[in-house]
Amino acid sequence: MNTEKATLKDGRTIEFVHDQPRSGTMKEVYFTPDRKSVVCFYKDPCAGSDANRLQRLQMILGAYNPTLPQSHGGAAQNDIEADYYRKLFCWPTGIVVQPRFGLVTPAYPSNFFFPTGPVWLKGEEKNGMWFIGPKNRKWFEKNQPSELGSLIQHFSLCLQIARAVARLHNAGLAHSDLSHNNVLIDPSKGMSIIIDIDSLVVEGLFPPDVLGTKGYIAPEVLSTIQLDLKDPKRKNPNARTDQHALAAFFYWYLLGRHPLDGRRIPPGNTAEEQDLLAFGSQAIFCEHPSDSSNRPEEKQYVPCSALGPLLYDLFIRAFVKSLHSPSDRPTALEWVRGFVKTWDLLIPCSNSSCLHKWFVFHNSTDIRCPFCGTRFKGTIPFLKLRAESRPGQWAMDGQLAVYNQLPIFKWHIYSRVFPSPETDRTRQAYCVFHEGKWFLVNEKLTSLTSPGGNRVPPGQAVELKDGAQIRFSQEHNGRIAEVQMIRS
Ligand SMILES: [Zn+2]
Repeated sequence: MNTEKATLKDGRTIEFVHDQPRSGTMKEVYFTPDRKSVVCFYKDPCAGSDANRLQRLQMILGAYNPTLPQSHGGAAQNDIEADYYRKLFCWPTGIVVQPRFGLVTPAYPSNFFFPTGPVWLKGEEKNGMWFIGPKNRKWFEKNQPSELGSLIQHFSLCLQIARAVARLHNAGLAHSDLSHNNVLIDPSKGMSIIIDIDSLVVEGLFPPDVLGTKGYIAPEVLSTIQLDLKDPKRKNPNARTDQHALAAFFYWYLLGRHPLDGRRIPPGNTAEEQDLLAFGSQAIFCEHPSDSSNRPEEKQYVPCSALGPLLYDLFIRAFVKSLHSPSDRPTALEWVRGFVKTWDLLIPCSNSSCLHKWFVFHNSTDIRCPFCGTRFKGTIPFLKLRAESRPGQWAMDGQLAVYNQLPIFKWHIYSRVFPSPETDRTRQAYCVFHEGKWFLVNEKLTSLTSPGGNRVPPGQAVELKDGAQIRFSQEHNGRIAEVQMIRS
């Protein structure tokens, strides 16, 4: 193995294998001998003398770094948080000064590469676009459907992306180039990782290097692209444009089509001119509620309303109300909440060969999987979760569609618990269908109370019957679940 030594800015040295590098647009990439890290050298020979870039990298590696606990000079509160975000980001770990200017980053975990698959994908990174294109989808559907993941895994990876971006924005950072190229996904495990962190925008301090990637650039950026870089009217990537890219990613990935790419072709002499208008100043949502001019090409398509009312509202806000008014776009945190709450409405599709396997229950008069069209037949116990907003006043603040073996967690039990990196993920109870009846089986709850007012200790169960009110916990902010039996 032909290795060479690189010297880092903090004096450490690191070995890298000096063979054929992987080459990106801005960097050449070499593995370390253990293949756990990569050393990336900037192709631009002047990169090292750019004081701005160096200062930005130092801040990204230090004070703004969510993968390093505060006690080690990072931005994460503690080790648990740092560990959590280390899985969601491929965050740089060192600045290289010799033999050339560059960075050290962890290697992408192996599950983000295609180990097998069609010849044209073998060994490639798993970026979102590979799972959307019809050629690849057909191949996977036929040969390796598990690689495509189910809707629950799609939700899981979208939730991770939303959490990661929310963390960046919360720290005053913007990614500036969120796209399928910079977000790797593994649908089979429901995982995602954000890469290419070195060009993050520190709002108010460091401007962006790039405008973004086609299909993800916000309309205001495209419609001011012809203005001079110093023109104050020119709009550059920032957290609001990340919010557009995020919504575009979710829509594109979950529904398999671009939100602005419908049948309408704007005026223009070239495809480039038309694109500039279609995704820029004349952009229009393909599911716009009152303007049908840009509907998707396909006659039959799954509308975003199939993803439930919360995600529908977020898509409408992102692509109708605030497509051209960036300050109202849904934040990454709102997407986190949207996915967490909609997760509670997922039920299994009864068609065993359905690729999505799950769908969002949102219409009790026609319960049907929107992906394969199969009608649901049976009973769904539907739990309306209420929390005490003021003494004696119980307001509905959640819903839970029950299926056999549904796990119940602390964020369902208590109104003030929201799933976060540090939340206890131990199952507290579960629902089960047994001999024609539905039950809630207690595992960890110390004051679960039956509709009749009796305590149900761990190991025992309470039946879910229409109209029953079950108190999950007598503790402060413990919720009440009101049962509604929905038959189809
Ligand atoms: Zn289905």
